Amino acid sequence: MSATPSLLEALKQRGIRVTPQRAIILNAVEQMHGHMTAEQIYDQVQRVNSYINLATVYRTLELLRQLDLVTEADMGAGAMHYALHTHATHHHAVCRTCGRSIEFPHELLTPLIDALHNRYQFRADADHIVIFGWCDDCASHLPPVQT
Ligand SMILES: [Zn+2]
Ligand SMILES: [Zn+2]
Repeated sequence: MSATPSLLEALKQRGIRVTPQRAIILNAVEQMHGHMTAEQIYDQVQRVNSYINLATVYRTLELLRQLDLVTEADMGAGAMHYALHTHATHHHAVCRTCGRSIEFPHELLTPLIDALHNRYQFRADADHIVIFGWCDDCASHLPPVQT
C-alpha cells in the first residue's frame, strides 16, 4: 500500500467535519479498491449501519468528486461508476449491447489528448473516459453497415 492519507484524513485536512455515518461510507469506498457504483457502496454500508440511506451515499460521493478524491464515469443506462483517484488512471470501452466493460490504460489515450492540446489548445478532462461501442461478440450480430 502507498502512504496516501485515508479519505477520512483527506477530508479532515480540508477542514470538513466527518460524521460517523460519513466515516462508514468513506471506509466502504476505500475497501472497493477502485471500481464501484453508488449501489455497491450502499450495500456495503448497509451491513455496518442500516440507517444510512442511498441519498447520503450519493451526497458523500459527490463531495469526494468535488474534492477530486474520486472520479466518476457514466457507464451508460444511468449507471455512474466511481473510482478512487489513487487508483491508476484508466478508461473504459463499454459494449452497448451486453454492457461488458474493457478497462484500458491511459497511454492509449495520450496521443489524442496531446493532439487536442497541440492543435486546438484544448485541455481534455480525460481522467476517466467511457467510449461506447460493441464488443467482438456483439459486433458480429450487428446488421451490416449501409453504404
Ligand atoms: Zn473506471
Ligand atoms: Zn457485447
